[in-house]
Amino acid sequence: MNDQLLSRARAVIPGGVNSPARAFKSVGGNPLFASHAQGPYLYTTDGRKLIDTCLSFGPMILGHADEEVQEAVKQAVERGTSYAVTTEAEIEMAELLSEAIPMLQKVRLVNSGTEAVMTALRLARGATGRSKILKFSGCYHGHIDSMLVQAGSGVAGIASASSAGVTEEQANDTLVAPYNNLDAVKALFAEHASDIAAIVVEPLAANMGLVMPTPGFLRELRHLCDDAGALLIFDEVITGFRLEFGAYANMCCATPDLVTLGKIIGGGLPIGAIGGRVDLMDHLAPDGDVYQAGTLSGNPLCVAAGLATLRKLQRLDPYKDISDNVEDLCGRIEDSAEDAGIDIAIPRDGTMFSVFFRDEAPQNFNEVMESDSERFVRVFHRLVDAGIYLPPSPFETSFLSVMHDDALLDQMAEAWDAALKAE
Ligand SMILES: *Cc1c(COP(=O)(O)O)cnc(C)c1O
Repeated sequence: MNDQLLSRARAVIPGGVNSPARAFKSVGGNPLFASHAQGPYLYTTDGRKLIDTCLSFGPMILGHADEEVQEAVKQAVERGTSYAVTTEAEIEMAELLSEAIPMLQKVRLVNSGTEAVMTALRLARGATGRSKILKFSGCYHGHIDSMLVQAGSGVAGIASASSAGVTEEQANDTLVAPYNNLDAVKALFAEHASDIAAIVVEPLAANMGLVMPTPGFLRELRHLCDDAGALLIFDEVITGFRLEFGAYANMCCATPDLVTLGKIIGGGLPIGAIGGRVDLMDHLAPDGDVYQAGTLSGNPLCVAAGLATLRKLQRLDPYKDISDNVEDLCGRIEDSAEDAGIDIAIPRDGTMFSVFFRDEAPQNFNEVMESDSERFVRVFHRLVDAGIYLPPSPFETSFLSVMHDDALLDQMAEAWDAALKAE
């Protein structure tokens, strides 16, 4: 059955997938085909029931097929699926986002995280009249031409860590520094200060595995931007509503000018958002001269799923519980690794964690690349065989959801223990 699906998929879809990370290139073996998902479980067409810690690469913080989200979408479907006319729900969504993240004075909805970042970059360039964007190696900002330079996520698995089809001009407008390396940022500012429109950064880098900002890193980026008249953009597509009911920008030492969101705020349907200072956001069309549009932007189904997800998160406030579960699981994996004599580092924050086979948590992409990814691949396949699904790459972050309970934690800890002891 799966072999058949694989050959049919490969015949008509490039690489057999609609997004590269799904192809299992970083871990080898045949990719999965999903039949359905429920709560913490992903079910595959070859009959596997997997405890899912990939969770669609992040959106499914309530677990799969949440009843409230489903009900909201069902009700929305009955009213029609797209109008290209503004709805009250879109206003509620913007109100909710800006209540939860006060620096979002105005918000525009788009269709994906990629679109959100693309809009943020154009807005930064339009508002400053400058061309260059500074990013960090190993950070992923969607598949925008200029951002596919030393990027994380699926791009990290490609040898050149970059993409063909990106012109030299586009690449030249992107300055790249190692994450957590302020000297490198300062050197780039010293050379290009008057050309830099913005720094775009994942305030907690989660697309090269999880890499924490060192103390003062984000605050110093803020100062450098202020001194040079550049904007600071936090790409929170993955961190938004992940660590608390709000964004990393709420809890951090530096306030960005613009924030991009996606993933969780769509509750598993396609969405993205960009928001920030009102004087900047008003540069967007139709009031301003920075053009941005979308036939399906603010789509009623996506907004319904997103609102239902956010309201449930606000009501449950599950962040402390999930983060305690993450801490518990990671502690047990560390104990197992120690018993097995294996070097391991498991950075974690809130509902996210990632396992590196090296002795210390990495601080940048080079250090990430020094971890033992062959070991990761072996452990990954043992875990899948034991019924645990991790994101299929050593460069992605794992998540727990509201639905991952104590019994599942035990099951996961035991599977990790066996997988590490088999090394
Ligand atoms: C996932 C992600 C994106 C891209 O979002 P898509 O919805 O996949 O286009 C951008 N930035 C960050 C930080 C992400 O994690």
